Amino acid sequence: MGDNTCLVCESELTAGYKSWHLLCKNCGYEKANLQQTINSHLTHQLIDENAREKGLRELRKSNFTIIAEKIKSLKPNGGSLLDVGCAHGWFIETVGDDFEVLGLEPDKRIFEKTSRRNLAIRMGYFPQALGDCEKFDVIVFNDVIEHIPDIKRTLAYCHEHLNDDGLLVLNLPSNNGVAYCLSKIFCKFGLPKFFYRLWQKGFPSPHLHYFNLPNLTSFLESNKFNVKTKGTLPTIRLNGLYPRISYDRRLGRIVSAFICIGVALLLPILRFLPNDIVYVVAKKA
Ligand SMILES: [Zn+2]
Repeated sequence: MGDNTCLVCESELTAGYKSWHLLCKNCGYEKANLQQTINSHLTHQLIDENAREKGLRELRKSNFTIIAEKIKSLKPNGGSLLDVGCAHGWFIETVGDDFEVLGLEPDKRIFEKTSRRNLAIRMGYFPQALGDCEKFDVIVFNDVIEHIPDIKRTLAYCHEHLNDDGLLVLNLPSNNGVAYCLSKIFCKFGLPKFFYRLWQKGFPSPHLHYFNLPNLTSFLESNKFNVKTKGTLPTIRLNGLYPRISYDRRLGRIVSAFICIGVALLLPILRFLPNDIVYVVAKKA
């Protein structure tokens, strides 16, 4: 499939908001031609990893509890679970009592930090870090799949590494959410920084894809997965908001503080608008 073909519906992609951005007018899928620089020292300097961890912890943990409940309702007897891109190990900890877990983490610094906490993790990428015959009952990608260049091939690998009736769980940002829609409006008016931030442009591992629930569902169904349950999750909590905004060192403290106050004031309204995270639990067909 060519570079300008939609992953979901195979329509031709059209030019997006920036030279690196493409979109499908038929199904709404969006793509970025941005470079991965994971394990490069230079781009890591842009991120305050401690602030990022602090900012994301509460939000991720509460969303992980919701996702864990969805998995448990479909796999009440537990089983083996692989968490691809497990980062700080929060999801492994959330499901550790109910499943036999393994995490994969490709970022050397984060891997070393998380492995000090005696969690079952391995350094590397999916599926290269696995043995050919290693299979699981559940494979989870929490905020990971949107960073992977060839998702279609990744889904084929998931098929190979899932047991019969195995579950694939995806949790990722959506282009139907309020933050993403706002970032596009700002970008149109010549203020592209928020749009860059949501694509994580210039970060070690930028976002390469944006889906919404309908096109993500049809993408999975055309790649031998049956969607069992899906929904949306909140992206913003007051708790951890400042470190979450300020972990991008390029912003500086004053700009971060202003953004933080603005978002905090908007929070009561934002709760009624479309969420920015979607999740899907699909069964191997
Ligand atoms: Zn499309």
